[in-house]
Amino acid sequence: MTSMEPEKRSIENYTIAFHTLGCKVNRYETDAVRQAFASRGFQIVTEETPADILVINTCTVTSEADRKSRQMIRRAKRRNPGAIVVAMGCQIELLKSASDADIAVGTKNRLSVVDLVLEKMGLLMTDPPSTVTKTPSTVTKTPETGYQEFGPVVSQEDTTRAFIKIQDGCDSFCSYCIIPFARGRVVSRASAEILREAEELSNRGFHEIVLTGIHLCSYGKERGEGIEALAQLLEQLDAIPAIHRIRLGSLEPNSMTESFVHKLAGIRKLCPHFHVSLQSGSDSVLSRMNRKYTAGGYREVISLLRSVFPRVAVTTDIIVAFPGETEEEHQESLRFCREIGFSRIHVFPFSVRSGTSAADMQPKVSSKTADERTETFLQLSNSLAAAYCSRFEGDTVDVLLETKDESGEFSGYSKEYLRVHVSSSQDVRQGQEVRVKVISMEQNELYGTVTY
Ligand code: SF4
Repeated sequence: MTSMEPEKRSIENYTIAFHTLGCKVNRYETDAVRQAFASRGFQIVTEETPADILVINTCTVTSEADRKSRQMIRRAKRRNPGAIVVAMGCQIELLKSASDADIAVGTKNRLSVVDLVLEKMGLLMTDPPSTVTKTPSTVTKTPETGYQEFGPVVSQEDTTRAFIKIQDGCDSFCSYCIIPFARGRVVSRASAEILREAEELSNRGFHEIVLTGIHLCSYGKERGEGIEALAQLLEQLDAIPAIHRIRLGSLEPNSMTESFVHKLAGIRKLCPHFHVSLQSGSDSVLSRMNRKYTAGGYREVISLLRSVFPRVAVTTDIIVAFPGETEEEHQESLRFCREIGFSRIHVFPFSVRSGTSAADMQPKVSSKTADERTETFLQLSNSLAAAYCSRFEGDTVDVLLETKDESGEFSGYSKEYLRVHVSSSQDVRQGQEVRVKVISMEQNELYGTVTY
């Protein structure tokens, strides 16, 4: 920690750094909290810079994420003995304690950390700095309030793509998942707020809007609305002239009705890239997972998507080595994924989360077998990604230019979420969407030249 002379320091002289573990929703929420501190005058510094206040947004989706979160909090305390360490998010929600942090909030009411920090600094103003770590930890209650409005949230990392969180929570209770316990039931944001935020961010120059949430397909569920609510929201976003591209976060196959997919097809700005969560291609494993669809039902949804988006990119998540997963079930899952032809598979070995029903399921798959199955799936993902990418060689794609390297080469993502390296003889700039003729492919990334 930098030297503290509280009675003389104004807020502008206090530095604050943020560390985020876990998913895109967590990143969004860190951005929101960062913004709230900045608006109160705190000086934001990068993760690596020693700071007066350290905020750690935790994750607990796997036991590994949980371990890392604890480790990060402990390390923050050890390396910054005088700093105020704030922990927030899913792990804290489940722990109901501050862990080793000075201040902790769960998954609701996160913006309250700003006042809690100011309160703690108020104590510092009258006490010598040595008492900082001796002041009692603060753990806020996490009332079951409705959706907490943050917006408009501007990410520090992204300058071209803006994430908008449209809902929180999940009512599904898949047998392996701790998230419904950490984030509670579904709460959705008012559509007018989302539309306002999307327009504002687009006017600020964000070219792509990504709708994110814990269970997107449940958007509006607690208001008695069905999947049409998400379709309607997309139609409204599509109609805003300032918005150029819309991308959807993870979708659930059992929610994707025929009429929903047909509505998606009518949304002109929607990227033909859908992350449709599978988890296993074996019906018996899906049933033990308490997933409410079969592999056959999943196949139908993907066929439907392909009938309306011919070049669609479909990505998914797979859990390998779920309790009781036999070699046969594993092979069944592999065969199914090969048949579907995903453009990428995110592979996760099963992780025991205490409090979920899968935690007690037996027999557990050995870690050696889990490692082997993970590796097999990663290889499959790689070969499927190569096959999908190769379909674009010689073709044209629309690329949002995001980064420029030292040699002046731009790269960005196509609508199908393929990474494309772009050379151009014309003047192009970051944040611009250009049409690119694909010349070659290397390591599942495309290379091409701007055609206009
Ligand atoms: S749908 Fe299942 S895996 Fe996804 S957050 Fe809800 S309980 Fe977890």
